This record gives sequence, structure tokens and C-alpha cells, in this order.
Amino acid sequence: MLVFLGFAAARLILKLLKYVFYKKDMKIYCPNCFCTNESNQNVCKECGKALKWKDESYEDELIKALSHKDPRIVLRAAEILSDFKGDRTKKALTGIIFKSKGPYIQATAVKSLANISSNETLKIFKKIALSGTLPARLNAIEAMGKKSSLKDIDLLKKLEKDNSETIKARAEEAIINIRKRYEL
Ligand SMILES: [Zn+2]
Repeated sequence: MLVFLGFAAARLILKLLKYVFYKKDMKIYCPNCFCTNESNQNVCKECGKALKWKDESYEDELIKALSHKDPRIVLRAAEILSDFKGDRTKKALTGIIFKSKGPYIQATAVKSLANISSNETLKIFKKIALSGTLPARLNAIEAMGKKSSLKDIDLLKKLEKDNSETIKARAEEAIINIRKRYEL
């Protein structure tokens, strides 16, 4: 009996979680193309597929979508994952940051990871700030501005001498942000 109740409760919690994730802001994501639809729609306005999710968790589906062959879907999944704070999502986004050759996918994954992590991901951002694709470097430097401590200012000062003017400007902003946090 207790086991049964536990099972029923777990199912109910899952159902509620699903509701929160699927119907966030009264929007529903298409399981096929991940575009946003109104929650009262039955079929996707973009691809026409039924807006029905299988029992698998939404987060799992999104993580799976990061290996989709269509880069637009990968990009969209990386973007939506900024709402999921689980370790699996952090791991999957980190994977795509280092695996993806697409500058916008890499940049979006950096942004989403920055959104859901505190400073445990700093070393990823430092690495990408130096060696990522240009849009990813910009997002990584911005993330450093939000998460770094004063000891990372040296790296940002180095980036202020970068060849790219946008990188220089972003590094300068990040330094200002860090100093502001420490009220220097
Ligand atoms: Zn669709």
C-alpha cells in the first residue's frame, strides 16, 4: 500500500513538473522542432507535428536534441536548457561548448550555462574566453564579469589587448563589473 502511494505521489509530482516546464508562460515547445507554440494548440505552427510529449522527461529530450543533426534544433535546445538547473544539463551544455564547431551554438551554450551555474563553471568560461569562437568568447567574457573574482582580472587585462575591438570592449566591461562587485 505504502509503496503504491509512493509511486502515485511520484507520478503526480512528475506530472506537475511537466506542467510547469511544458506550459511555462503558457507556451509549449514542439517536441519535433522546439519552436514555441501557444499552450492551447494541438499541432506545431512551424512543422505541423502533434504537440505531444512522450513520457520521457522534457529535460532528457532537450539534452538529446543537443546531438540532433539539424543545427537549428541544437541551437534552440541549448537556448531552452537555460531554464534547467540540473547537473545533467550543465554537463550536456559543457559537452556541446567544447564539441560544437558552430559559433552560435557554442555561444548560446555558454550563455545558457552561465545562466544556470554559479562559479563552478568559471574555468570553462576562462578557457572559452581565450580560445572559443568569437561570439562564444564574448559571452564567456561577459559570464566572467558576472562570476569572476578579482584574481581573474589579470586574464581579462590580457584580453583587453586582444586583436578584436569587440573582445577588448567586452573585457573592459567585465573588469568594471567585477570591480563594482568588490566596490573598488
Ligand atoms: Zn514543430
